Amino acid sequence: MKSIKSKIFVFALLATLIPSVILGLLSFHQNDSSIRENLTRELRTLANHASSELTSWINRNIQDAAPLTTSRIMIEVLSNPANMQNGEKSQSHNMLNNYLRLVQARLDKFLELTVIDTQQEIIASSSDQSFLNKSLLNDLISLDSSQQSFILPPVTNEQFDTVTVSIALPILSYENYILGQLVVTYDLQSIRPKMEDPIKSSRGEILMVNTHGQLLLTSHGPSDPTAQLSPDAYQSLVNNPGELHYFQDFSQKQVIGLAQKINVLPVIIIAGRNYEEVYAARIEQRDSFVILVCTSIFIVAAIAIYLGRSIVTPLQSLIDATNQIVKGNLDIPLTSVVRKDELGRLAQMFNHMTEKLRQSQAEILTANEELRIKNQLLEELCVTDSLTGLYNRSKLNQIISDEISRSHRNKRPFTILMIDIDYFKELNDSLGHIAGDEILATVSRTLTQSIRSIDFAARYGGDEFIIVLTETTAKEATITAERIRAQVSEISCSVVNKPINVTLSIGIAQSELKDTSPTDLITRADNALYEAKKAGRNQARVVGLDI
Ligand code: GH3
Ligand code: MG
Repeated sequence: MKSIKSKIFVFALLATLIPSVILGLLSFHQNDSSIRENLTRELRTLANHASSELTSWINRNIQDAAPLTTSRIMIEVLSNPANMQNGEKSQSHNMLNNYLRLVQARLDKFLELTVIDTQQEIIASSSDQSFLNKSLLNDLISLDSSQQSFILPPVTNEQFDTVTVSIALPILSYENYILGQLVVTYDLQSIRPKMEDPIKSSRGEILMVNTHGQLLLTSHGPSDPTAQLSPDAYQSLVNNPGELHYFQDFSQKQVIGLAQKINVLPVIIIAGRNYEEVYAARIEQRDSFVILVCTSIFIVAAIAIYLGRSIVTPLQSLIDATNQIVKGNLDIPLTSVVRKDELGRLAQMFNHMTEKLRQSQAEILTANEELRIKNQLLEELCVTDSLTGLYNRSKLNQIISDEISRSHRNKRPFTILMIDIDYFKELNDSLGHIAGDEILATVSRTLTQSIRSIDFAARYGGDEFIIVLTETTAKEATITAERIRAQVSEISCSVVNKPINVTLSIGIAQSELKDTSPTDLITRADNALYEAKKAGRNQARVVGLDI
């Protein structure tokens, strides 16, 4: 989470996800309300249609059957039952039976026509054995002449293998007395096509149940006579007619529907639709929404990663480059300068900065080199004599000190030669100071050329020189002293155009263990030099000895 890249990534995901989810939920909610609204309207229309079809079917059936109650044979058979002999009675009943069978055969919309008397006793029927049993007959109310009909609740009729509805119509005498009732039985299934017609355009289903929730009829096919709605589902539907409810239908499918009571029959009309089917579009919409959100997230994540990289990668190379600068490497041009944005400008400025640093570094290096050379020169000037180029006196002291220490360590002696030009004052006076200087320089060169690389030659002052011969005894040093004397005797001077005679007096002193400072040794060499001068010059002397 520390990286800018992850922050951009998380921000982009949240910025996509949060509005998408909120909008999605709002849209689902609105969609849900609209589905429920439309469904309620559609199912109410369906239920109204079924209800009005059923009502008009019943009314039509009443109207169709009503004329039969005025038939002469029916009135006459029922008018004088008491006056009839047994033989006459059965004959008239047979005639009525035949009449009813004839009517039923001709008009097959009647499943059964049964005539009962005022005592609820069956007088005649179009069936050999009427399905009207004692309990059904007890349900029949005694109609009076003012009542037009009475409808028995629909029953599952095993005799006709269907659900039947029976309508009782009063049979009146010519004097308008009630003589009995004609019970006309219809097949309830015959109304199904009328319910189906408008439903074909919709995908709803009409269920008709009795007051116990038992299925009587469905608009989509033959119904199972044993099918029954759960009491809870039935109660919630009936208690809130016209309101949408979710329940399981007779085939245990999840259904969304509403109930409607009707007046003509003790039945409940339920208009319903398969839940999955209703919400299929919403489920499809939800899936599309999920795919859309996932795709958006994927695209946004890809853009966020690209953006993060385009910011972090140049920053990382800037960090790496800065790190290189910290380590002293200035040769690190950034390649992101091609970009036209702020990072490109930053890289450009960074490259300018490193270029400036490179220039400054080069200047510093040059200045350092100049300084080093000057320092070296200064150092050399510090330790050398400007006229002769030999070591000066202070450097000589240091060299002798170091050699004393070394000889103490390795227990081996070293020797110094103290050299003075004889009668130099006279040479100076006779040849001039410039010639004197040249003689000093030529003698110095001869001295340098006469010694080993491990030896040192220094100008002690005026026309005096000291040579330090490392790891050399006084005896060995006398050979070097003689060689020097011989070589110096041959030098010439370019300033004067005549032969010159330069001789040297040399004092030789070997180091001793008791020596603690250069002065000890120089004093001895000086004494030897004094001895050489005293003895007539142009010679070398070891301390207190002639050679
Ligand atoms: P001696 O044999 O006793 O040494 O006699 P000398 O004349 O050489 O006497 P001394 O060594 O004392 O004289 C040194 C002279 O060297 C004195 C001075 O005029 C001369 N001298 C010292 N330094 C320089 C220098 O840098 N250039 C020149 N041309 N002469 C110098
Ligand atoms: Mg001298």
